[in-house]
Amino acid sequence: MLGIVSFAHADDDFESCISRLKETARAAQISPAVVDRVLDQVSRSQRVLELDQRQPEFTQTFASYFSARVTDTRVSQGRELLDRHRVLLERVRAQSGVPPQYLLAVWGLETNFGSYLGKTAIPDSLATLACDQRRSRYFTTELISALRIIESGDISLDQMHGSWAGAMGHVQFMPTTYLKYAIDFDGDGRRDLFTSLEDAFGSAGHFLNRLGWESGLRWGREVRLPADFDYRLAWGTEPRALTEWRRLGITDAFGQRLPVVSVEATLRLPAGHRGPAFLTYRNFDVIMGWNHSVSYALAVGHLADRIVGAGRLQISPPVDDLRFAPADLMEIQLELNRLGYDPGEPDGRLGPATRQAVGQFQADRGLIADGHLDPAVVDLIANSFKDSQRAKAP
Ligand code: CA
Repeated sequence: MLGIVSFAHADDDFESCISRLKETARAAQISPAVVDRVLDQVSRSQRVLELDQRQPEFTQTFASYFSARVTDTRVSQGRELLDRHRVLLERVRAQSGVPPQYLLAVWGLETNFGSYLGKTAIPDSLATLACDQRRSRYFTTELISALRIIESGDISLDQMHGSWAGAMGHVQFMPTTYLKYAIDFDGDGRRDLFTSLEDAFGSAGHFLNRLGWESGLRWGREVRLPADFDYRLAWGTEPRALTEWRRLGITDAFGQRLPVVSVEATLRLPAGHRGPAFLTYRNFDVIMGWNHSVSYALAVGHLADRIVGAGRLQISPPVDDLRFAPADLMEIQLELNRLGYDPGEPDGRLGPATRQAVGQFQADRGLIADGHLDPAVVDLIANSFKDSQRAKAP
């Protein structure tokens, strides 16, 4: 009985939340007819709430994320599609400065080249998340933007389906991004990222351009570190001059000297010293502006390279790496804290402060101090913590 009562309660909450959202939408100058037509038929989705709690960028290991996204099949599809759409893609490059392979890589990662645009009714997912406490403000804004898109006639309510999180069309724009950055590249008077590839590629290029894409520059590259490398340099994400990394003995993935170019580069070891190393440039940060995930941006960059002929990574990510739910990571942060390290406020996220604390812990024990939580380090932290508790026991 208790379960039924609490469900009914949740639905009551949802109904009053929808009433509040209607007021917010009308105050934002959306026509009452559109507000009622869309919000009278939304329903709360338990599935959306569940999916929101396990986003793959944060709970998968780098190896599992990366290998599922940059596959040989996807690479060969990308090469075929590059041939098929070359004229259009070059038109987008002429306007945006973004080379074809990056547009294809984003398209490949977002919707497997348009083969899966998502089936969730966007108003349902946005209303569900707007009525959930965690990120209510963000999703309320997105819902208002979705209403504005319907009102503008760019996309109809019936057509507006997409990901559980509210992303839409071939390149999965959130509604606010759609409003701000989608363009009518085929000139038919509508910005249609669902059925017009011209609009979808044009808009993707326009968005990357507006995020600061520098034409003529790569995203970054896989590199090789020298045997005596000081891994403390990988704890943070501060960029250094490429020439400085070169001086420290970093080469390209094949052992060749890096070019002497005046760019800033950031060293990234997404799977620690056992996995591949990358130097990333400004355009990598631009890709992160699209989706704030290092794994996503590395997958886009590498897929883009492979589409234009590059081979696989020289060093594969280790498959026995661990994945952490935020609660697991918070426990490790608390253990590090009790052991006298400073991983920052325990938040269940693997940020720079946590990497630095892990690296310091490794350095103090004579291990390779890459700041990465591989299985051996996690065991050692747990055991050190238990030992310290035993030592304190009366
Ligand atoms: Ca159009």
